[in-house]
Amino acid sequence: MRVAIIGAGPAGMTAAYQLAKAGAEVEVFEASASPGGLAKTIELWDQKVDLGPHRFFSSDTRVNELWLEVAGQDYAMVDRLTRIYYKNKFYFYPIKPFDALGNLGAVEAARCVASYMAERLSPTPPDGSFESWVQSRFGRRLYEIFFKTYSEKLWGISCKDLDADFAAQRIKKLSLFEAIKNAVFGGKGNTHKTLVDQFAYPHGGTGMIYERMAAFVRQKGGKVFCNTPVERVLTEHGTVTGLALPDGEFRKYDHVVSSMPISLLVSRLPEVPMDIKEKAMSLKFRNTILVYLNVDAANLFPDNWLYVHSSDLQTGRITNFRNWTPELYGEAQTSILVLEYWCYDGDELWTMDDKKLVALASDELRKTGLIKDAKISDGHIHRISRCYPVYNRGYKEVLKPVEAYLTGIRGLSVIGRYGAFKYNNQDHSILMGMLAAENIMNGTSHNLWEINTDYEDYQEASVITKTGLVRQKN
Ligand SMILES: Cc1cc2nc3c(=O)[nH]c(=O)nc-3n(C[C@H](O)[C@H](O)[C@H](O)COP(=O)(O)OP(=O)(O)OC[C@H]3O[C@@H](n4cnc5c(N)ncnc54)[C@H](O)[C@@H]3O)c2cc1C
Repeated sequence: MRVAIIGAGPAGMTAAYQLAKAGAEVEVFEASASPGGLAKTIELWDQKVDLGPHRFFSSDTRVNELWLEVAGQDYAMVDRLTRIYYKNKFYFYPIKPFDALGNLGAVEAARCVASYMAERLSPTPPDGSFESWVQSRFGRRLYEIFFKTYSEKLWGISCKDLDADFAAQRIKKLSLFEAIKNAVFGGKGNTHKTLVDQFAYPHGGTGMIYERMAAFVRQKGGKVFCNTPVERVLTEHGTVTGLALPDGEFRKYDHVVSSMPISLLVSRLPEVPMDIKEKAMSLKFRNTILVYLNVDAANLFPDNWLYVHSSDLQTGRITNFRNWTPELYGEAQTSILVLEYWCYDGDELWTMDDKKLVALASDELRKTGLIKDAKISDGHIHRISRCYPVYNRGYKEVLKPVEAYLTGIRGLSVIGRYGAFKYNNQDHSILMGMLAAENIMNGTSHNLWEINTDYEDYQEASVITKTGLVRQKN
């Protein structure tokens, strides 16, 4: 069985790792210089950093076992501390009632409670939007403070136009009641995924897992080609024959696993009907610009990352890698921070030159008061095109026929965050890779499109702890 994998991110690398283990002949094609995809770790100013904050968390025993198999003992449990920056104040996230109350003040807090009660008495009718989904659970006032500004920065569209799926995937079942219950009684046991307060983090950075997977594939005789983008997947009579590289080289395979952007995959397929191609091309992605700043101080503030809700700042999130694990910074005495900016291709930010971006980020960081008068000695820009699949309202009607078309192609598996147009975390992409490999090697028929939708009724849940896996009863 000769299998080609497009993309060496968590989805593609996991598929390759599992296939190599099962004895398939595997060749991975990665467009960038190294494995890991969005979850890679890079070297910067003699330290290690990720592409934004990357906390691994899963309740799925299959995913956790695989992660531990690769990480071995080389990870630490990191205490999570995150806050929200809103109107010059810092709110703990997950929300702590007394802290929130103190920050909001008695009048605003009373307004929040009143709008929550009003919502209970006369609920907002669901219209499929993110706005109605959140407002109906939290009330208008809390929605405006804790969800609206951040989400609109991230997605660049009104929350009225954002599909409720985004909320359902990320803050599913989280009610104000649960948030308060967690705050008052602690977060032990079956804690909601957005509230997890400790996470496992590899000594070599998040990307260590995928670098190790790549090394394993090579050790098993497989190939991982970096700096090698795939131009297109080739089919004949609805069956995959292989793939083509940009220089025109054709390579023959029995099966292709693709995690390249779904819009590009579909638009370049040779036999694709025009309406499917148009639908795939209409799916939107949001870009990210990461502005790394090297700050001359070792003890700036305690958060792993902060969400920036204030609308007077363009950045949406600030990460401090100094607060992850000492293995990342070693002997260095500086703190590397990264500020995230989100935009579309045509936005001014996307084409802004590096110097201006560093100046913008430095200025915004200074305004938060987080670094006081510490010196910013250097800046570095990393641009990520097609970083987030945008769930605008109605996207499912567009995606469904594209999914059905791709499912009908024999010898093709479509996985991954932009590969399958799913707002995946690493665990979702890892699971997609595992199940794709199982389908290919064992003839199972896992529906990969269902992952990161409603699959979270685990038969056996677990968490990774300092001493390994701990199984939990559902
Ligand atoms: C800022 C940020 C913060 C995040 N935080 C977290 C977090 O805290 N926890 C968490 O679990 N996840 C987090 N994620 C999400 C996580 O990074 C992704 O879920 C994961 O990387 C997705 O893996 P993937 O393999 O599906 O896709 P990707 O990581 O996008 O990998 C796809 C790969 O395909 C390659 N490729 C694309 N086109 C081609 C082509 N034509 N030919 C060959 N190769 C190609 C790309 O170069 C890339 O390497 C975060 C992501 C971002 C951007």
